[in-house]
Amino acid sequence: MSDLFSVADVSAARGPLRKMDIAPGDAETPAQYTLRAGEQRIGLNAHLGASLRLVHTGAIHCVHCGRTTRKSFAQGYCYPCFKSLAQCDTCIVKPETCHYHAGTCREPTWGEQHCFQPHVVYLANSSGLKVGITRKTQLPTRWLDQGAIQALPILEVDNRLQSGLVETLFKQVVGDRTNWRAMLKGDVAPLDLPAERDRLLAALDQELAALRRRVGDQAIGTLAAAPVALHYPVLEFPSKVVSHNFDKSPEVSGRLMGLKGQYLIFDTGVINLRKFGGYEVEVAIE
Ligand SMILES: [Zn+2]
Repeated sequence: MSDLFSVADVSAARGPLRKMDIAPGDAETPAQYTLRAGEQRIGLNAHLGASLRLVHTGAIHCVHCGRTTRKSFAQGYCYPCFKSLAQCDTCIVKPETCHYHAGTCREPTWGEQHCFQPHVVYLANSSGLKVGITRKTQLPTRWLDQGAIQALPILEVDNRLQSGLVETLFKQVVGDRTNWRAMLKGDVAPLDLPAERDRLLAALDQELAALRRRVGDQAIGTLAAAPVALHYPVLEFPSKVVSHNFDKSPEVSGRLMGLKGQYLIFDTGVINLRKFGGYEVEVAIE
């Protein structure tokens, strides 16, 4: 906890943006947000209601190798990294297209460490019901990054490829996207996720049985987890969602009204900081 208090005292920073660190809260305490600019960190919860200004200096540093790049690819990478790193390959977004077995993984060692690990298929409520997958160690970070208000892990699989195969089945009957405008308006209705899980598992019973025959009975395990509720620090949700964009205007400022997902909610509009990974900014809080 002492770490959180020390970062909260800082009110200015300069450096390339990283996605915010979000620590889960509980029913009484909302999630704790830390803005990261280079090596510098600012605890944001303490500054809710204050004037916050971010000014993009014009420089973009690749989030992987640090070199400057005129344009950002895949939310923060330089072009050479974007074309060569396994984490930037299309199979990360579409895990069912994993091609490791063909000997064509861009970085087999990285793949073994990140993709050949237990993955979880979950239901979440970010702007309504959705299905998603993530590495087991990424929970609950993944849900917080998406601005989900509820989540429920439903299946655990041995690797990323299998998670993609399962998610593909679910996408026949449920969406996998978040409507970020709806998510930021804050009027998302709560869902009975265990009931949704039971309904979807019943609807996909035959498809899941066929997949288990293909990849092995033990590879896809049903989880009996409890639903998780996630709480965000928001003074007031916007009634109309307009977005700021450093590529169009280098200065983003206003009164900080809330934090949800990877978004800063100002009284002047919202900004998705994840989208601007690597953008060097000067941050000031008054
Ligand atoms: Zn790079």
